[in-house]
Parts: sequence; C-alpha cells; structure tokens
Amino acid sequence: MPAKYIFVTGGVVSSLGKGLAAASIGCLLESRGLKVNLMKFDPYLNVDPGTMSPFQHGEVFVTDDGAETDLDLGHYERYTHARLSRDNNWTTGRIYEQIIAKERRGDYLGKTVQVIPHVTNEIKAAMKKVAQEVDVAIVEIGGTVGDIESLPFMEAIRQMRQELGRENTLFVHVTLVPFIAAAQELKTKPTQHSVKELLSIGIQPDILLCRTDRFLAKDIKSKIALFCNLEEEAVITAKDVASIYEVPLVFANEGVDTLALKYLHIEAKERDLSRWEDIVHRVYNPKDTVMIGIVGKYVEYEDSYKSLKEALVHGALAHNLKLQLNWIEAEGLETGDKSYEAQLEGYDGILVPGGFGKRGIEGMLMAIRYAREHNVPYFGICLGMQTACIEFARNVVGLEKANSSEFDPATPHRVIYKLRELRGVEELGGTMRLGAWPCKIEPGTLAHRVYGKVEISERHRHRYEFNREYEEPLTAAGLRISGSTPDGTYVEMVELPDHPHFIGCQFHPEFKSKPLEPHPLFKSFIGAAYEHGQKRRAEKETAEVEMFHRPEKVGQR
Ligand code: GLN
Repeated sequence: MPAKYIFVTGGVVSSLGKGLAAASIGCLLESRGLKVNLMKFDPYLNVDPGTMSPFQHGEVFVTDDGAETDLDLGHYERYTHARLSRDNNWTTGRIYEQIIAKERRGDYLGKTVQVIPHVTNEIKAAMKKVAQEVDVAIVEIGGTVGDIESLPFMEAIRQMRQELGRENTLFVHVTLVPFIAAAQELKTKPTQHSVKELLSIGIQPDILLCRTDRFLAKDIKSKIALFCNLEEEAVITAKDVASIYEVPLVFANEGVDTLALKYLHIEAKERDLSRWEDIVHRVYNPKDTVMIGIVGKYVEYEDSYKSLKEALVHGALAHNLKLQLNWIEAEGLETGDKSYEAQLEGYDGILVPGGFGKRGIEGMLMAIRYAREHNVPYFGICLGMQTACIEFARNVVGLEKANSSEFDPATPHRVIYKLRELRGVEELGGTMRLGAWPCKIEPGTLAHRVYGKVEISERHRHRYEFNREYEEPLTAAGLRISGSTPDGTYVEMVELPDHPHFIGCQFHPEFKSKPLEPHPLFKSFIGAAYEHGQKRRAEKETAEVEMFHRPEKVGQR
C-alpha cells in the first residue's frame, strides 16, 4: 500500500517544538506497529546548515551518509527507528540547486521554469522519495505560516492533498494558546489568526496541537474548534513538560495517534509505550545526581550541542541518575593564574565537545590537564580528542608549542594537522570528512570494554586529524591509540590507561544515542563520573570527620 502523509506546520511563533511534535507522532505510530519515515523542509536559502554559525542555526546534525542537516533530524532519530539520510532534509537552496542544474542541462526542453509547477514538483518528488516502503511519512515544514519563503512548500502540501485525497493526507498544525496573566485567561485569538492564514493558502488543518502551559478546558477547545473549523476532539492540549521524553506520553493521553489513524483510515494494533513510560519514570525518580562540566566555545547557546546534551541525559538515565550539566566558557578559564582551577572543581566528569576555530583552545587545554592530573573522568569528542592529544604532547611529552595547524599554522609540532585527503581544498561547504566510517578497536583497551566489540561505525565531521608522526613519542609516554580506521590511516580513539576514565574520539557518538538505546561511550563516561564523584564525596566526609577529631581542636577548647 502506498504511504500516507502527515504534514506538520507551525503558526504564531517559532520554537513551538514542531520537530519534537513530528518526532513524537512518529514514536506513537511506531508504538502501534507502523513503519514511519520523517523529513524536514527548511525554507532558508543556504544549501545546508553546514556553513551556518551554531549561534544562528544550532547544532548541525550529521547522518550516516554524511549529510549536514537540521537538528530536528536528531529528534526524529532519537524518537523513532527511521533511517535518515540527505533525502530527509531539504532547504530551498538545495531544491533550487537541483532545478538550476536541470535547467542548465536542458532538461526543461526550453520551457519557462517557474515556482509552480517546477519548484513545487521538485518538493513533491522529494516527499515521495522518503515515503517508499513505509506506512506513514511525516513531513515537517520549517518556519511559521505566513513566511514568504515557506509558500512553495505550503503550496506543495496543498497539492499533495488534492492529488492523494483526505484519506491519505493529514494536516497537523502546531500553534500557541498563551495564558495572559493580566487577564488571567487563555487566549485563542493567535490560533484563530494562524489557522486563517493557513486557510488563505488553501489548507484546512485536521488536528491542532496547541502549545500551552495548562490544560485546555472543554469550553476553550470547543471555541477553537468552532472558529477554526474542525472537530473538538482534534483540538489537542500540547502542555509544556519538564522532560522532552514525556511528549509522546502527553500526545498519547490526548489521543493524537488514535485520531490520526482514524482520519487516515489506518487499522493498527494497540499502542505499547511501556519503554517510554520507563524512561519518563526514570527522569522523575533519579537515585542521585551526576555533575558534568562541558568546556567549550559555543556554550552560551545550548542548541549548538543539542545531541550532546541529550546523549549525556541518556547516559545518566541508564544509571538512574539526574544529569546536572554546567557549561563552562573555555575562554573564561584563561585567567593567567591558578584561579581557573576553582571553576573546574566539583565536577564528577569533564567533557570537551566538538568545535572549530582558535578561540578558547588554551582554556580547553587547561581543563584537560586538570582532568588528567586530578583523575577526573574525561571525555573528548572530536575537537576534544584533538586537544587531549595536544595537551598530552605539551605537558607530558614536553613538546612545548605542540598544536593543531588549525589554531597555529606555524607550530613546530603539528600533532594535529589537516586531513591528508583535504590538502589543497579551501572551499567550506561540505568539504569535511563526513558521515559514518568504520573503526577498529584495539582489544584490551577501555574503548573495547566500553563497546564490547572490536568493529564499530560512528559519524564524523572534521577537517583535521591526528598526525601519525607523533604516534611514537606520545604512545611511548603513555597515550594509547585504541581505535583506528581499518586500513590504519586515521586515528579514531585515544585513551590513557593509567587514568580511571580518560577517552577521546575523533567521531561524534552523540549523534547515535537514543533514550531507549543510550550510547555506550556516554553510559560509561557517566558511570565513571558518578563513581568518581562518590569517591570524592566520601573522601571529603572522612577528611571532615578527621578534622573534627583532631587533638589540637580539643586543646583549643
Ligand atoms: N575543528 C576540528 C576539525 O575540523 C574539530 C571538528 C569538530 O570538533 N567537529 O578537525
């Protein structure tokens, strides 16, 4: 049977959680035994978010096939089993890039190339491509209704309804019902306006997901239903929750899946959300807290490390712990004296995440040195692995000015240098080592214990690599290379055997962690961090007790 489509649009304001809503609907449909795929259209003109600043765009999520995509795809993968690729994220820029290439090739046989039908056809073809071999394709349209740049996408989904009919298409609109404190009232007007806007382009929503901070009473729901021309049961309270993993349960309570199946004429089994219920139970009933410090450059903007944060949460949940995350601005550690140590004290584990550019590197090196010398569990991801190698070269091997040629092109010791396959490539877009690559793990290492196997595949996004010329001096001084590409070209993992838990990887494991399948590296890091914290706390208590019983204290009385 051909796939059915659920189109998710947003109104009133951005950041209403459309991506999470789409992912949660996918999760609910899977819980009923259906196969889903999800995709997102981003109306901006960049070809992909790869060249955009993390401040502008948030994290760039990398798929197995090496596409640099919107962070909502991370939610899709975390909430469902859909296998995403570059086909699952399109921008206006990429759609136009295709069309212009076709036009240059003469594919349009001399016709005038126009938004309708050429652009809309291209958009529809992209939707149909991801809808193969699944029961339901969930299509999220980025931006907010009324944006000029999202019009072609709206027109395309309107045409999809025309083509495929009501039973095969469903329009879900995410909107806002704010509580106005001065009036002590929930206001439905923004939703009415947003639906009016949708209607003006020919789209009647079937389900409204109303973001709100409190439950919508029956009279509010019936008012929205009346003005927005839909059934009362289709007005859903999408109440704010403390954990994003609760959203599927909230939607289930409101019957979103039952409604979608009814409208789409799909027969499916009863839903089984027991594993998600377990996760949410853990979220609200932790046995203790684990404190992790992330030392990075884009820390003031959390969205730039979305998957990382979630992967740490998954690792903590695996141990029934609550994650307390502190973002430490790397540059702020560069105090010039020892005072920076106070900023690093008290963490159970320290992590340096991926990043680009020179700013904050010295601060990261100080944090890594601190973790290494104080036996604090350390986890370095991509840049965090590179800086760990630089720190080791400088402070253990004694190669004073060791660096990456990314930060100091004139360094006498290029411990990290430009990927050999990228020499001579100066262009920025898509010119990195991207996507999934296999890695062979050395038996008997921490990495081996963590993964429990010797062959893994992880996702990459980098331009620089470990310089094998420094393998000998660094390993002779105690660094262990625990993972490499199967042909031995690239160093993928390093560790310090005489440290409780010091590990770095050139890839980004955070992209593959899910709440129901926490990534082994995060699970192990959090476990080690918690153990370290417990030990430290116990030592502190003993010290305090000893202090109390010191004889000079008695003498002072
Ligand atoms: N800037 C480093 C490189 O390009 C690290 C990249 C990253 O952390 N994603 O290799």
